[in-house]
Amino acid sequence: MEFNITPFLNDVAQHISNRPFLVIMIIIASYLLVRLLMILYRIIVIDSGIHYVTTQRSAVKMDTYHNPFFFDVNIQKANYLGVECTLSCEKDCYVLAVWGVPIYQLFILLNESWSSLKKAIISHVQCEKFSTKCLCSADPLLLIAGDKKVIEFKPRWDVDESQFETNVPSSRQTYPFVVIMLLQKAANVNQHLVVAMANVVHVSDNLLKFKSQLYGQYVKLSSGPVGSIKKIFLSSPEISHSDGEPFVLCIACYHRAVSPVFLPCRHACVCSVCSEFCKTCPVCRGPAYFYFELLDASRSN
Ligand SMILES: [Zn+2]
Ligand SMILES: [Zn+2]
Repeated sequence: MEFNITPFLNDVAQHISNRPFLVIMIIIASYLLVRLLMILYRIIVIDSGIHYVTTQRSAVKMDTYHNPFFFDVNIQKANYLGVECTLSCEKDCYVLAVWGVPIYQLFILLNESWSSLKKAIISHVQCEKFSTKCLCSADPLLLIAGDKKVIEFKPRWDVDESQFETNVPSSRQTYPFVVIMLLQKAANVNQHLVVAMANVVHVSDNLLKFKSQLYGQYVKLSSGPVGSIKKIFLSSPEISHSDGEPFVLCIACYHRAVSPVFLPCRHACVCSVCSEFCKTCPVCRGPAYFYFELLDASRSN
């Protein structure tokens, strides 16, 4: 049986030419149908049901420095009779424990040269920066490279915390207890090495009753700058040793290494790929407009 399509098309053309509105509606409906099919194809086939969000997050440039010092405090044994600390250093270093250090005084000291800092530590009793400004200090000691020591620092005489000047009840201008660690030998100023670390310990007292704790740590580079050490909160305890270097696994894909650290909360829990899907920090739901990478690109994939 033979079918001639030409008369049929002529009929259709004649039929719709009398209805321009219908033609426009058919074109629009066809376009919307194609768009809908494309979106469904992308969601079901390409993205496997994942809903993408657009994040505008900026990378922050961070420099990496090796810190040879280790310091921790036993908060159960931290009071004005003595503070128990654990210390070690990869190189020989001086250690000086001081009670009642004016905050401005500590930063003036840290910003001085390595030789001035060494002189101030060794001759701390004669040094006016310590003897007239701080309440009292223990004898300085030399910590040998690699030695991990637990030391209870005791003040030379009773410390009266009421001497710590305060302007308002919630703040103070004096750190209760500070342990300064300084490399025995000077480093080349061009090497950007960490040569000193000041460990600030809060000791619970009548002025500020919150628990004794390691309050802050500041490092000094051989080239001069002083910066603070801040914790990174890794959420996953899983460690994999596949390439010899331990890393923490992403809590979302459980496949790649955790790398981006969200700022300002400093939570690190997902890999670089999964972080693209995070509008906020997955741990605290806080804003995460900035981040920096823990790993270089070759190790984060
Ligand atoms: Zn991941
Ligand atoms: Zn967070």
